[in-house]
Amino acid sequence: MPGGRPHAKATLTLALVSFPVGLAAGYSVHGVSALAMGAVFSYWLSPDLDLRQSIPSRAWCRCLNKVWGWTERMMTHRSFLSHGLIIGSLIRITILVLLYTIVLASVSVVAFVVVGRSIAPTWLSDLIKWPLFCWWVKGIIAGDSLHVAMDWWYSLRKKHETGAKRRSASSAGNR
Ligand SMILES: [Zn+2]
Repeated sequence: MPGGRPHAKATLTLALVSFPVGLAAGYSVHGVSALAMGAVFSYWLSPDLDLRQSIPSRAWCRCLNKVWGWTERMMTHRSFLSHGLIIGSLIRITILVLLYTIVLASVSVVAFVVVGRSIAPTWLSDLIKWPLFCWWVKGIIAGDSLHVAMDWWYSLRKKHETGAKRRSASSAGNR
């Protein structure tokens, strides 16, 4: 498994490349920006949140780290629930959206109690614009797919190197 730094470099490169490529393909600046931001954010919403000691896990505040710690207990490292293509991303995005909804509902209730009317939906709920949210999700899925591809490639390379070492050790022993 590659460490946090190769994943960080890869997601940043993906974001930087996706922006001009998206614009050249004729997509809107807003959409392509949301896609690139999603790709960058995928580093923090990483499949490696299933490991409490991973760099993305430690990057979250203590409260949210507890949430990801709960996911760590629910899934084994690199299971399809965390490292499965699309499904892993959708699970983490769903958790994040649920947390966002809880914050939105809490602010709405507090605002209703204090001001007498709900002011939260006018600004907090407007943070999510549906088409841009879809682009952001696509960026996260692209970043996560790159992460999973890198994990596969590193595992395959490691297996190949271990096999080659074993073969050379056994051939040396046969001499
Ligand atoms: Zn991983």
